[in-house]
Amino acid sequence: MLVELASLELNWLRRRHDKSIPLPRVAIDDSLLYTGLYCWPCAEEHPVDGELVPLDRGLIVLSTAWIHSDAEAGAALAHEWRHHQQFHAGWRLGEMAAWNPDGEGYETAIYRYFTENPKETDALLFEMAASPAPHHEYYMDIIRGEWT
Ligand SMILES: [Zn+2]
Repeated sequence: MLVELASLELNWLRRRHDKSIPLPRVAIDDSLLYTGLYCWPCAEEHPVDGELVPLDRGLIVLSTAWIHSDAEAGAALAHEWRHHQQFHAGWRLGEMAAWNPDGEGYETAIYRYFTENPKETDALLFEMAASPAPHHEYYMDIIRGEWT
């Protein structure tokens, strides 16, 4: 189901220097195969659970199928917001980073995702600072090679 949220829920992430950044749309789509998705602003539309959403302001999509607590929701929102900041700071975001937990195992997928993609490393560090959540400790154990 597409639920397009008012953008007020992003105001806690907009620090003083971010106020010039236009707020993206935010939607919930439980058919998403991962926690969150960011689409940068452009003239196209993106399908969210069968409905086309304009990308004129950019779009953050979260899946509550993968989010199990307020802390995880905050972290996911902060993560996708960071990609929005990156876009407005001039980063070339390019393709989505490869995410293949079935092919290589969950811990290896986490390690590769957050260490081989600068935009994802940056977004992880941002979400950890903006909205700490219990899973961050597990992620950091993996990144340090201390999960075995
Ligand atoms: Zn990301």
